[in-house]
Amino acid sequence: MEDCIFCKIVKGDIPAAKVYENKDTVAFLDIAPANKGHCLIVTRDHFETLLDIPDEKLGLLMEAAKKVTRALSLSVGNGAYNILMNNGEVAGQVVKHAHLHVIPRFKKDLLRLKWINRKYETGEIHEFAAKIKKFL
Ligand code: AMP
Ligand code: ZN
Repeated sequence: MEDCIFCKIVKGDIPAAKVYENKDTVAFLDIAPANKGHCLIVTRDHFETLLDIPDEKLGLLMEAAKKVTRALSLSVGNGAYNILMNNGEVAGQVVKHAHLHVIPRFKKDLLRLKWINRKYETGEIHEFAAKIKKFL
C-alpha cells in the first residue's frame, strides 16, 4: 500500500522508534502516546482490520504483542497495561493498517477508557446472543 504510513515504517522509508521486529511483525512507539511507552504492533503485510488478517498471521501478531508487553512491563511500565485495537473509522481507526495498541498504565494517569454502561430490555440479551450465534 503506497500511501500507508505504517507500510512506510515497516519498510524503513520513514523513521520510527522501533522496539521489535521479526519476519512477520514490527513494533514501534506511538508518536502521540496515551502514556509514554505506548507501542503499536503491526503485521509487515498490509491488512486493514482484524477480520482481514489471516488467522496464522494474527497469532504471530499476538505473540509479538505479548513479547513487547512483557518488555514494556519490565522497563517503563509496572505490570498494568491496556491492549486496544480500533477497527473501522467509527471505532476510531485512523491508520488503515491493522495495529494493536499496547498502553502502559500508571496509578493516577489521566487516561480514561471507561464506557457508560447501557441496559438490555428484558430478554434482549438473549436475542443479541442468538443473532450473533447464527454466524458462528
Ligand atoms: P488508530 O486511531 O487506532 O488508527 O491509531 C493510530 C495511531 O498511530 C495513533 O495513536 C497515532 O498517534 C499513531 N501514529 C500515526 N502516525 C505515526 C507515526 N508516524 N509513528 C508512530 N505512530 C504514529
Ligand atoms: Zn499498510
